[in-house]
Amino acid sequence: MPSDIYDLIVIGGGSGGSAVARRAAGYGAKVCIIDKGATRDATGQRTGAGFGGTCVNVGCVPKKLMYLASSEREHLLAGHLSGYGVSANASGAVDWAALKERRDAYVAMLNKNYENNWTKAGIEIAVGEATFEGPQSVRVTPHVSQGAARGAVRMLSAKKVVIAVGGMPTPLDVPGGELAISSDGFFDLPSRPKKVAVIGAGYIAVELAGILHGLGSETHLFFRGPTVLQHGFVRASPHRPTLSRACVATSLDSALSGSRAQDPYIIETLMEELGKHGPNLHAGSTPAGLLRASDGTITLQVRTQSGIVEDHVGFDCVLCAIGRVASTAALGLEKAGVATDERGRIVVDAFENTSTRNVLAIGDATTAGFDLTPVAIAAGRRLADRLFGGAPDARIEYACVATVVFSHPPIGCVGLTETQAREQFGDAAITVKKARFTSMKYALSPPDAKVRTAMKLVLKGAEERVVGLHTIGPHSDEMLQGFAVAIRMGATRADFEAATAIHPTIAEELVTFGGWGQQPTGPEGALRPVLPPHLRRPAYAGRTAQAIGAALVVAAAAIVVVRARR
Ligand code: FAD
Repeated sequence: MPSDIYDLIVIGGGSGGSAVARRAAGYGAKVCIIDKGATRDATGQRTGAGFGGTCVNVGCVPKKLMYLASSEREHLLAGHLSGYGVSANASGAVDWAALKERRDAYVAMLNKNYENNWTKAGIEIAVGEATFEGPQSVRVTPHVSQGAARGAVRMLSAKKVVIAVGGMPTPLDVPGGELAISSDGFFDLPSRPKKVAVIGAGYIAVELAGILHGLGSETHLFFRGPTVLQHGFVRASPHRPTLSRACVATSLDSALSGSRAQDPYIIETLMEELGKHGPNLHAGSTPAGLLRASDGTITLQVRTQSGIVEDHVGFDCVLCAIGRVASTAALGLEKAGVATDERGRIVVDAFENTSTRNVLAIGDATTAGFDLTPVAIAAGRRLADRLFGGAPDARIEYACVATVVFSHPPIGCVGLTETQAREQFGDAAITVKKARFTSMKYALSPPDAKVRTAMKLVLKGAEERVVGLHTIGPHSDEMLQGFAVAIRMGATRADFEAATAIHPTIAEELVTFGGWGQQPTGPEGALRPVLPPHLRRPAYAGRTAQAIGAALVVAAAAIVVVRARR
């Protein structure tokens, strides 16, 4: 079979694949991007996300639209508007079908944008499943549903191949597990479930449970541990993450690998707020099986921590969100000699190199450790800079990656949790500033509808460098980005405080914590002012003044002596 030859083949047209392909094409490389397109298996389960990948089709984008819908409804029904004297007589009825139709149309528009952008960049698009035939040769097999429209099987080869195939939801491996839907299935739901069980403790489970609850489904969240979100977005990384210059200077290595967990203060606040305003929580519950009851509903059996199996009945939907698995099993990686870890993730170094020369990998399918769209995009762009842009040292930096959980209320975090910082630098080096309060947003709301905000700064050393910032509460998602820039640049508490507050806002708390501009001088608690760096007199200035003073005294004394001798 004749083979088309490229400078670069990219397998996977998601966040990372699209980014590397477009950037490489911008440098003049001849690029082909291979994506399965939106495919399904015989049972109707999604097997290919579609152009734009997970984020656009079954991830960030449709999730955020559902989150916004759910938050608006919650706000309407909780009585916040009537607190402001605004009539809010709406019933909160949800036209799920109409919402889905508009959401799907928005996603379809983005799919088209991706295709147009690739075409405009001069990238060739091959639709079908890619499998390796050798390190630099790839077979593209169109899906059965696409065969006629999209052409025959093709063989492609290239000087470089980038694998960016992302991941898929992990199926529920218990008897009857096939009765559960995944996060992909959530986006297929034609109507709002009346009573839904969500299984999982990660951010996807928390977010989807919050969305369903906010849109009026009776929602039950089942998780194994005592709380949700005990682990973060970031998986353990086999390679040492790239060190940023700012962070190397102050040895903040671990701040770079991001938070593997949320700060306990944030989890505690989240659990309280979920308990008051969220879905029904079932801690310490491990799924044991699913059964179809005679009335057509699903019974979820869970094993509690005492070993008892409990039946929870009457669900018209069970949604499982217990993690994701890299889409590498059918890629034929063995033919390319590309090594994976025990979970099928492609092993990469800090430059996205795999075990095979000229085969590189980015995004969720790798061991890089971050399952986030902006990380996949940045990795792809920097990789293209390195391969085709003449920047041999280019690589993504994992320093201080900020993350948000779109829970109700949302969470934002960057850097280390207090626990991580204490482990890393020792108790003596760490101080924290924290506050929990009800923001003015809810000043006129009914008491039981008020949602709390909690914020924490984790500070290191005498210079009080900010090594962690954690916030939960309304607008945490929107306020984090700017703080992440400052933290990445090495901001200290004094820098935060030197940035005059914006009043009245929620974010102002982060620059005005109690003890603003002061520090205790000792255990007795007497306070002294702490000035920001630009107002501090350099230490040598005082010594120089003393030296000049002493020299003047000596000179004056010498003049007196000389005069006396005359
Ligand atoms: P993907 O975007 O998954 O793209 C991979 C593409 O490759 C897909 O189109 C796939 O069909 C295709 N493919 C796979 N195998 C083959 C093959 N053999 N041949 C051809 N094509 C193939 N991240 C955030 O930053 N913020 C969020 O709010 C957020 N929310 C999320 C919510 C949910 C429910 C989920 C599931 C994920 C969310 N994410 C979020 C994570 C984010 O979507 C991923 O980190 C990101 O999409 C990873 O990009 P990628 O390029 O590695 O892979």
